[in-house]
Amino acid sequence: MKAGREELMEIVDLWGYSKDAQEKILAVLESEDVPPPHLFRYYGPNEGHGKVWQAERLFEETLGTPYALAVNSGTSALMSAAAAAGIGPGMEVIVPGYTFFASASIIVASRAIPVIAEIDDSLNLDADDVERRITPQTGAIVVVHMKGMPAQMDRIMEIARKHDLIVIEDVAQACGGSFGGKKLGTIGDLGCFSFDFYKIAQSGEGGFVATADEFLNMRAQSWHDTAACWRPNRYEAERREGELFCGENYRMSEMSGAVALAQIRKLPDYVARLQAAKKRVRDRIVERDGFTLRRQPDPAGDASTALVMFGPDPDTALAIMAAMREHGVGAGGRFDQTVRDWHVYNFWEHILEQKTVTEEGCPFTCPYYEGTLPEYGPEMCPNTLDYLSRSMHMGVSEDWTDEDAEKIAGGINAAVDEVLA
Ligand SMILES: *Cc1c(COP(=O)(O)O)cnc(C)c1O
Repeated sequence: MKAGREELMEIVDLWGYSKDAQEKILAVLESEDVPPPHLFRYYGPNEGHGKVWQAERLFEETLGTPYALAVNSGTSALMSAAAAAGIGPGMEVIVPGYTFFASASIIVASRAIPVIAEIDDSLNLDADDVERRITPQTGAIVVVHMKGMPAQMDRIMEIARKHDLIVIEDVAQACGGSFGGKKLGTIGDLGCFSFDFYKIAQSGEGGFVATADEFLNMRAQSWHDTAACWRPNRYEAERREGELFCGENYRMSEMSGAVALAQIRKLPDYVARLQAAKKRVRDRIVERDGFTLRRQPDPAGDASTALVMFGPDPDTALAIMAAMREHGVGAGGRFDQTVRDWHVYNFWEHILEQKTVTEEGCPFTCPYYEGTLPEYGPEMCPNTLDYLSRSMHMGVSEDWTDEDAEKIAGGINAAVDEVLA
């Protein structure tokens, strides 16, 4: 069936326009006859140069990288990147103990062994701990830029190059951020973005895989498209070994592409405002012994969506948050052993208890794996739990003015004064 005005009007209704507005819009639409849209990204009357294609080209330009491939989620971006990089049986992949579970889950789904590593006071991967956990089986690092904060990419890339490891950046929460003047997602071998509703740029569901490597891009494209069904010259023989293999279908629809395109246009300005608003508050906060701000590995590239502070210990952090509330400032998000949170590894029982989709226990029982399994358990990354249990998280608004910043930072400073006096 063709999509017509009825379908478009459902979208207008989804946006929540009043009945009155909808009637007017419908009247305008009825005054013009247009052919039905082609909602599939490849092929068709626009020769595949529709909204998804435009979003990809604009995202490439925004990131400053040659290839961006649109997919239907951040998780499928990570799966496509893992497939492109050849992550699979026998390989260990290092992932931080603080991230949305998808970054770790895709390693197991790719049938490789997840090695969970510590975070540091930036709440991102601790480079020294990464180096300690490298073994002859290590093949890749998934580095995550949590809550918009760039990870220490110079150190991580140095370690990766020294040990010949693939680096996949999970930029799901940090779209538009940068490190050392390069956009996040373009520093490692592959960058994975989520455009789900909760992310900086969103299309309901969606994602992108960015890379500068033509071969990796082609392999990600093949994986995301069942079996390279729509690759250029789709019926041609393999141009290079490693191009043809069986994949899944993670293609983005033109409707998501249209929303993603508009969001990418707004992205640079939004991130700049977010950064400026947060800086107003950060600059007014007084750090001291027992009260510090989350470390910024590169302040100029900080796209963080939360202002994170640390107390000296979990109980004092709780007391500081209570005092902040008294001063009209809300902060929360402190990690608590009793509240389940998919972002903290000690709740990843799928991995800690080696639960697998099929009974033979692959990848944990994989005969191709010649290493020794990490000792999975809730205590395996004590620093991670320590940082998180002392952390206080406050959402950032891109609209904060100097006046707001005075009030917020004033409240925070007063609360810390009272509790740490
Ligand atoms: C949201 C998120 C993902 C997964 O993205 P989806 O689009 O929801 O699949 C992966 N990694 C991190 C760090 C995320 O925050």
